[in-house]
Parts: sequence; C-alpha cells; structure tokens
Amino acid sequence: MKKLLPTSTAGSLPKPSWLAQPEKLWSPWKLQDEELIEGKQDALKVSLAEQQQAGIDIVSDGEQTRQHFVTTFIEHLDGVDFENRQVMKIRNRYEASVPSVVGEVSRQKPVFVDDAKFLRRHTDQPIKWALPGPMTMIDTLYDGHYKSREKLAWEFAKILNQEAKELEAAGVDIIQFDEPAFNVFFDEVNDWGIAALEKAIEGLKCETAVHICYGYGIKANTDWKKTLGTEWRQYEEIFPKLQKSSIDIVSLECQNSHVPMELIELIRGKKVMVGAIDVATNTIETPEQVAETLRKALQFVDADKLYPCTNCGMAPLSRHVARGKLSALSAGAEIVRRELLAK
Ligand SMILES: [Zn+2]
Repeated sequence: MKKLLPTSTAGSLPKPSWLAQPEKLWSPWKLQDEELIEGKQDALKVSLAEQQQAGIDIVSDGEQTRQHFVTTFIEHLDGVDFENRQVMKIRNRYEASVPSVVGEVSRQKPVFVDDAKFLRRHTDQPIKWALPGPMTMIDTLYDGHYKSREKLAWEFAKILNQEAKELEAAGVDIIQFDEPAFNVFFDEVNDWGIAALEKAIEGLKCETAVHICYGYGIKANTDWKKTLGTEWRQYEEIFPKLQKSSIDIVSLECQNSHVPMELIELIRGKKVMVGAIDVATNTIETPEQVAETLRKALQFVDADKLYPCTNCGMAPLSRHVARGKLSALSAGAEIVRRELLAK
C-alpha cells in the first residue's frame, strides 16, 4: 500500500558553512573548480542524510548545487548576457540588477541532470527535483530581444521541457516548477502562464508539481505580505484554471499564512503539497501544530492526495532550525496518519 501523507520539502535546505555562508540567501561559493564540484556533492549527501534522519519520504538535493533557484538555471543557457545588466522590478516588489536577454535562448547541454543522477545513485526513496517555472524565469530578466513576456516564457518552457525529460530519464519521480510569479500576475497566468507551464511538462510520464508561494522569509517579501491584508486570496484568481490543467500536484503555503484554507477546494482533484512549516520564522513548529494544519487541509483535499510539505525553501535558516522543522513535519504527519488509519 502506498504510504499516506508522504512528506517532502518545497526545495532548498541550508548549505554547510564550508560551502557557502550560512543563513544568507544566494550567498557565493567558498570553494572553486574541482573543490567546488566535490564540495557540492558532499553537501548534497549531507542534505540527503538530514532529510532521511528526519524521516522525510520524498527527498531532494536540498538545492545544494545552486546559488539561486532561477539564475543558476539561466546561467547555463545561451542568449542571456550576465555582464549586460539592467535594473528591474522583481514581481512588482523589489528592484534588482538582472541579466539581459540578447539573442535566441537555448540550452546547449543539460543543467542539473548529472546532479539528479548523483542523488538517484544515493537513495531508493522517491526524489523530487525543482526547476524554475517559465513565468518566474522571465520575471528575473531584462528582455531586449523578444520584447514579449509571453514569447520569452514560451521559449523557456521549451527549454525546461528538454531538461525535464532528461531529469525523468535520470530517475526523478516528481519534477516541480517554482512559480512564485503566479501569485502576482494573475491576468498573465490565466492568459498564457499556465499554458507555458503545460508546455514545460509536455510528454512527461513522471509526476509534475507547481510550487506557488509567497516567497522566502526575506524583508522584501515580508514587507509585501504586510500589504496583502488579513486574508490572502491570491490563489483564488488562478486555481480554477490550474484545476483544469494537466499539472499533477500543487504546492502551497498554508502554515502561519493568511491564505484561507477553503481556497484549496478550488483545486479539488489535484494532489496538494500543503505547506505546514513556516520558513519565515526560527520558531520550530510542534508536531501538534503541523498536525492541526494538516487536519484543516483534510477538509478540502482527499487524504490520499495530501502531501505534507514546507511553505517554501529553507535555505536562509540555520541548519539546526531546518533540522528541527523537518523532524516536526515528519512527526506531525505521523500523528494525522495514525488518526486516518484508526478510522
Ligand atoms: Zn517558495
């Protein structure tokens, strides 16, 4: 029988201090060349072991081989100039210096496939691999070539599809696309964002997920959250269309967020990765708090489709806090699993 309530994380986990400065998002590498390659692989093994010790069911690489969840992927593509930078607003929220699209974008060789094979060799558990989503990719770039957000997203979707097919062949069980931009550009999501996502998963036989969150616990995001009011209904704008899409799993932020849980009803039929761990605080949830969030979610998602998860990545947290949160997630899921099996 398939395990009920399989646990996983949204993606990133803290890096060891010998690889990159801890508790800092997107911090630069401390190693170089061959040492860096080996260091990333060692960190991946440590990250995997920590997930396993905490009892996480669907494991990941903890994003140990990437500095940034979007740009590390884009750095491997042709057509983007990282020297020629422009200042842009990211997700209508904060200004950042971003690379420029200067020609046709293309992928000459696989980006994460060797890393995924490495992870596959080290565990028999189901593995999940995260890629940036097409809409979130275009939102982190200045486009001086296509001059159309939709066209650029479509080109990236084709590239993501090539990468995803090779990740599937490498033995990845779930491919997840990170689309925090889905929480901001509702009209575009409905016009072409979901279509671009479906292009990225075209022809895949493994499971597919989309992670839509309110971002890491960094200041620009917490400030933005303060402007959203007491009820966050952003998901409501895009869930009806997402429910009809071919994506298998939707990953959401539910712990300590102001998202009304009943919005999950709008994607009934999909598997839901319910964020039961807040990544914007160092306070470690108790197993009972996790269980309570999962029980609430069970009103709107069938038990066999509920996947307990974290709200977002945990890269900016200390390793101690992240370990505690992973253990709480497992223990909380186990409480509810027992309740379900006792029925
Ligand atoms: Zn996230």
